[in-house]
Amino acid sequence: MSNLFAYDDDREEKNAAKVRALESLLIEKGLIGSDSVDTVLAHFETVAGPFNGARLVARAWVDAAFKARLIADTPAAIAEMGLPQGMNGAEGEHMKAVANEPGIHNLIICTLCSCYPWPILGLPPYWYKDPVFRARGVREPRAVLREFGVEVDDSTHIQVWDSSAQIRWFVVPERPAHTGGWTEEQLAGLVTPESMMGVALAGNGKNDVAQD
Ligand code: FE
Repeated sequence: MSNLFAYDDDREEKNAAKVRALESLLIEKGLIGSDSVDTVLAHFETVAGPFNGARLVARAWVDAAFKARLIADTPAAIAEMGLPQGMNGAEGEHMKAVANEPGIHNLIICTLCSCYPWPILGLPPYWYKDPVFRARGVREPRAVLREFGVEVDDSTHIQVWDSSAQIRWFVVPERPAHTGGWTEEQLAGLVTPESMMGVALAGNGKNDVAQD
């Protein structure tokens, strides 16, 4: 996926160096403490991240009534799961789930900027903020999905959802066929952030790396 929008291969490395330099400067000036950045990072490693979304999707896969509630009233269904504090915090005020089903594939974008449901998906990947992705996602979603390795046949309708500060969408992907009898925990391991954005399927072998 790294070459999708023709970024330099060392982009992450360069940005990490910039961030380290900026952090050092802010600490030196006394504007942040030496552990401030670590505190924020720890939040996204343990409290807010795609591991929460994966739990919601796995529950939806094993419990049709929960899935219906998740679609009908997403915040109420999230509250049922006893997810950690922060679900209603920054960037998570109005989250809404849509489900893929036979004949319907959902894709999440933000045409304006990069609105994203942080509490359950973590921080958006850099390409989500790319103006090219945002424009093409609307104009030619089928072609964009193909570049992500997702072939959506012509008989399947693609619904593109535009996230904003008012509503932050996420996708409940379809449960993979070979998972009968799996536990919720096993199932959650198949649910990637990409599958909850609609740019991947869950457990298709390509993206079925467990979240941790
Ligand atoms: Fe936005």
